[in-house]
Amino acid sequence: MFPVLESAEIERVRRFGKIQSYSTGEALATVGTVSGGLTIVLAGTVDVARRDEYGRHTAIVTQGPGNFLGELAQLAGRPALVDAYARESVEALIIPPDHLRALLIAEAELGERIMRALILRRIGLLETGAGGPVIVGRAGNGDVLRLEGFLQRSGHPRQQLDPETDPEAKALIDRFHVDVGQLPIVLCPGGQLLRNPSEAELARCIGLVGPIDPNRLYDVVIVGAGPAGLAAAVYAGSEGLSVLVLDCRAFGGQAGASARIENYLGFPTGISGIALMARAYNQAQKFGVEMAIPDEAVRLDSMGDAGNGTFTLKLSNNESARARSIVIATGARYRRLAVEGLASFEGTSVHYWASPIEAKLCGGQEVALVGAGNSAGQAAVYLAGHVSKVWMLARGADLAASMSRYLVDRVTSLPNVEVLTQTNVTSLEGHDGILEAIRWRQGKSGQEVRRPLRHLFLFIGADPNTDWLSGSGIDLDSKGFVLTGAGNGTSGQQLGTSRHGVYAIGDVRSGSVKRVAAAVGEGAQVVAALHADTLNPIKSSVKSASEGALVQK
Ligand SMILES: Cc1cc2nc3c(=O)[nH]c(=O)nc-3n(C[C@H](O)[C@H](O)[C@H](O)COP(=O)(O)OP(=O)(O)OC[C@H]3O[C@@H](n4cnc5c(N)ncnc54)[C@H](O)[C@@H]3O)c2cc1C
Repeated sequence: MFPVLESAEIERVRRFGKIQSYSTGEALATVGTVSGGLTIVLAGTVDVARRDEYGRHTAIVTQGPGNFLGELAQLAGRPALVDAYARESVEALIIPPDHLRALLIAEAELGERIMRALILRRIGLLETGAGGPVIVGRAGNGDVLRLEGFLQRSGHPRQQLDPETDPEAKALIDRFHVDVGQLPIVLCPGGQLLRNPSEAELARCIGLVGPIDPNRLYDVVIVGAGPAGLAAAVYAGSEGLSVLVLDCRAFGGQAGASARIENYLGFPTGISGIALMARAYNQAQKFGVEMAIPDEAVRLDSMGDAGNGTFTLKLSNNESARARSIVIATGARYRRLAVEGLASFEGTSVHYWASPIEAKLCGGQEVALVGAGNSAGQAAVYLAGHVSKVWMLARGADLAASMSRYLVDRVTSLPNVEVLTQTNVTSLEGHDGILEAIRWRQGKSGQEVRRPLRHLFLFIGADPNTDWLSGSGIDLDSKGFVLTGAGNGTSGQQLGTSRHGVYAIGDVRSGSVKRVAAAVGEGAQVVAALHADTLNPIKSSVKSASEGALVQK
């Protein structure tokens, strides 16, 4: 985590930075403020410390000559998560984010050591919550879970204080004169107080996302940061294209919800979806890809920018982004169960993810899980390690019809998972968003059963995220997936849509194989076409919505 660079290595990287001096006590980094970049100590010593919500410091490490200061925030030019002060006069080499990315690529072996240290340091900060916002609110509250889930999926440190059990939380509520009904509140590292913010407000406050330059013309804007979008970003970035990636939730997409992916090439022991996706996210940033997360695309202009071969994407926050090519990688969204009152339990008792947050919430209790696909199987296996019992409810007669054999074997071998086939949830009972009981009709007999359960997990498939393409001239199939390739794409490109310069990859594409590896493969493949567009901008990218056969959903 804290390697020492040799003098020959420091000499080699001097060209990437500039020398700066600091006097005793001067700050080299301040929580919540963007620092100059990766800082290699040439002379003197620097104290690095985490800061809590009261401004109290806890020492992390003291760095001397040959050590460097920084973690993943410095790769993307985001605000620092720790404070660093010169213990004595310090001379340091400051490498700004764009030069740091160039260094990581130019110096393969040294770059690997630096990148590894940046990642390990972030993991250390995640474990302690250092430098992240403090969420004050009741542990099981839906909004607390929403904000915690967003930060967890974004790989950002956080702390959560419950006013019912934590005296520090009570003190903070008094200090900021907050009514208990206004909880949760969030204290950002820069000192700002947010009252029950949206994910976008929180992300802006902690510097995870900034404004998009509406005049900048990117080679490609990729909509969706799931495996397909991130793969396209890594390959396009590594080929030198200028790339912007948007995602309306967090990076990782559906794969980020997977407790353990066991069939992705090269990971014989399996890997959690979020760990795999975090690697891809960091890798894309290493190649200079810009991320705007969370930012939602709401419209693709229907006519292009009159004949000059560029596209404008409108975002939900009224910003816009311009590009020579667009890659649609918006995947699919989870399906909801058709039972009355479902929405009122979402966020607190009805879950579409099985992450450590949900596992903690349900620890030691009995839960119900609906679904019979691989995602349901993985979630059941994961939850079984944390809860006392999983009632797995499947509509069909046999799990093997929809789940991989290895998962069927694993699920059925777990003593605390009971699989009920030919079973449908009929109603939910509870108050104030808290589920108290679930009723289901079971087996051939159709007998109705009532179980006192507080948590229901749903893994029942997904529909394409293509509503935002309405009126854009992009042809969809009868189920709403994007049509591509010969016969559909005007470009004749395999991943090309009905508009030149617009491509679709991954789960959102009609006929695609709904797997991480397939999405990643399409992300790599689309880059050849993007290159061609960049070298030969299309003069007329326009095919209006009225042209061709726009198949409505
Ligand atoms: C729980 C679970 C477990 C799974 N396990 C496995 C497994 O073990 N092995 C395997 O191979 N596959 C698995 N899958 C399937 C796999 O995750 C998907 O095939 C894969 O994630 C598809 O990738 P994608 O990038 O095409 O789309 P997605 O992963 O769906 O990503 C799409 C992204 O686009 C974003 N987005 C949508 N609309 C907009 C918009 N308008 N503006 C901005 N952003 C938008 C979404 O927020 C999302 O992040 C699993 C799926 C789930 C749900």
